[in-house]
Amino acid sequence: MLENLPVALSSLQTALSLGRAMVDVRDSAKAQDQLIKFNEAIISAQQNLIEAQQEHQKLIDELRRAREECEELRRWDEEREKYVLRGIAQGVFAYIPTAYSGELVNAQKLCTNCFDQYRKSTLQQFRVEKGRQLGLRCPNGCPDLVFYDYEDVK
Ligand SMILES: [Zn+2]
Repeated sequence: MLENLPVALSSLQTALSLGRAMVDVRDSAKAQDQLIKFNEAIISAQQNLIEAQQEHQKLIDELRRAREECEELRRWDEEREKYVLRGIAQGVFAYIPTAYSGELVNAQKLCTNCFDQYRKSTLQQFRVEKGRQLGLRCPNGCPDLVFYDYEDVK
């Protein structure tokens, strides 16, 4: 991943050997030429180090995001254990609390669409005037669930 780091180190190595060569040069024209090469090598090394630092920071950010995502999924796994998918009416499904044992009409019902996207959205019941049906509405705009009665009503 940090492919710029070896390049930067190589540039520094070049600068170092140019610096050593400059010490040995007595001719001023040659010394000037060596100095220019030396400066170019230093500038190149600096650029490569900056790029390596940016890559390093990018990796740190990616790691932080991945850790946060893992933590979020771990919390969600704990939360989803508290709910079970259940048919609440003919062909109508919702998540209800696993421990719930009362009538379905009174149970907290969560939207399956939202639940499958790691969100808990409590469905709100309403009455459909035409056809005397019941409906459940998700606050996130998922399609309404419309049915005649709950599964446990005799
Ligand atoms: Zn929903």
